[in-house]
Amino acid sequence: FSSVELTKEAFKRIEEIDPKVEAFLALNEAEALKQAEAADARGYADGNVLNGIPMGIKDNIVTDGLTTTAASRMLEDFVPIYDATVVTKLKEAGTVNVGKLNMDEFAMGGSTETSYFKKTKNAWDLNKVPGGSSGGSAAAVASGQILGSLGTDTGGSIRQPAAFNGIVGMKPTYGRVSRYGLIAFSSSLDQIGPFTRTVTDNAILLEAISGHDKRDSTSAKIEVPKFSANLNGNVAGMKVALPKEYFQEGVSAEIQDAVRKAAAQFEEMGAIIEEVSLPTLSYGIPAYYIIASSEASSNLQRFDGVRYGYRADDVKTLDDLYVKSRSEGFGMEVKRRIMLGTFSLSSGYYDAFFKKAGQIRTLIKRDFERIFQEYDFILGPTTTTTAYDLGTKSDNPIEMYMSDLLTVTINLAGVPAISVPGGFSEDGLPIGIQLIGNHFEEEKLYQAAFAFE
Ligand code: GLN
Repeated sequence: FSSVELTKEAFKRIEEIDPKVEAFLALNEAEALKQAEAADARGYADGNVLNGIPMGIKDNIVTDGLTTTAASRMLEDFVPIYDATVVTKLKEAGTVNVGKLNMDEFAMGGSTETSYFKKTKNAWDLNKVPGGSSGGSAAAVASGQILGSLGTDTGGSIRQPAAFNGIVGMKPTYGRVSRYGLIAFSSSLDQIGPFTRTVTDNAILLEAISGHDKRDSTSAKIEVPKFSANLNGNVAGMKVALPKEYFQEGVSAEIQDAVRKAAAQFEEMGAIIEEVSLPTLSYGIPAYYIIASSEASSNLQRFDGVRYGYRADDVKTLDDLYVKSRSEGFGMEVKRRIMLGTFSLSSGYYDAFFKKAGQIRTLIKRDFERIFQEYDFILGPTTTTTAYDLGTKSDNPIEMYMSDLLTVTINLAGVPAISVPGGFSEDGLPIGIQLIGNHFEEEKLYQAAFAFE
């Protein structure tokens, strides 16, 4: 069948399913059909497997001519005049951009409930959260509306929604993928990455979006391996670290069991599993929330009612304009982070908070370095629980933050990690298994994830 047929099918499915799942913020139908026609005209002989494939993009990644809101009132009517590098790369690969996907406002959250526009539902149970912040990107793929999508991960926002929706999500090494055109949350932690249903698809998609970009000074000048080329399921002799800190009270018993089962499966396939210790795990959340909020408070200064987006009316002075536009344009969670970040950076508190968090970050990095001297990857859970009921944590920020225990240290260290489906809970919800690798060793993670899947 042709890309036009496939794309029409995708829109039919969206029409049927998305009123229930509510993953999309904007649809790109006319343009998508044009892209599909172009893909069909190019043909499929050149072995470009992504040509003509319908995809979706998280709404904090800018798309030329298509609204990009970051799920904020602040950017409700913002239509970018350029494409993010990842979007350009997808166009070059020939994919079809079906539309933009819901998320937590400015990617701050873990359930997609801080979106100004709508509440996305979990693809397995419409009463549950889809996870976040890339909840729309995950739910749209898991409910079969599109074949793949892009998300972003600052502290878990690709891996956690992938786990909650039973699909594959990869947070690449910091610097692997260009951040040019990503609306910045925390610049030293943010990475863009793919959601797919299979490990092979994920590897293909990461290949397409990776690589050095002169427009992002933090993007790495390092070759991009063909991640999908050597997937053969061979993990014999690989050394796998199993941190004992993952088996603690905060992690549900069912999820601990799933990790033990995964370890046994790897052992059966010839891998060597050994218990290790990650003593800095519990410092991850405080360090992450100080660093991420500090960087966010700085990055979000540009939304001042003058240059971009929402502008309050009925103001008399410039100060009024700033205060009123920001008060009305930002939601509660975003304001909380701006205040926390501004506080941590302010003189008198800097040493006690921001500086201290940076020191902890170094210790966390060293913890991972020590383990990767001896092991190929770390095996563990992605989340502490399976998807929970909508509304149960949205009024309790601390509880929401605590559920990021298993993902944030990976961003602080800058290493790659993938979440792959690892069975179901008793009530039928997916469980995610997380594989964490050394810098730029995504290939190894794909190899192990492929063997496990
Ligand atoms: N849940 C985390 C937070 O709220 C992670 C968000 C993300 O990765 N974008 O900051």
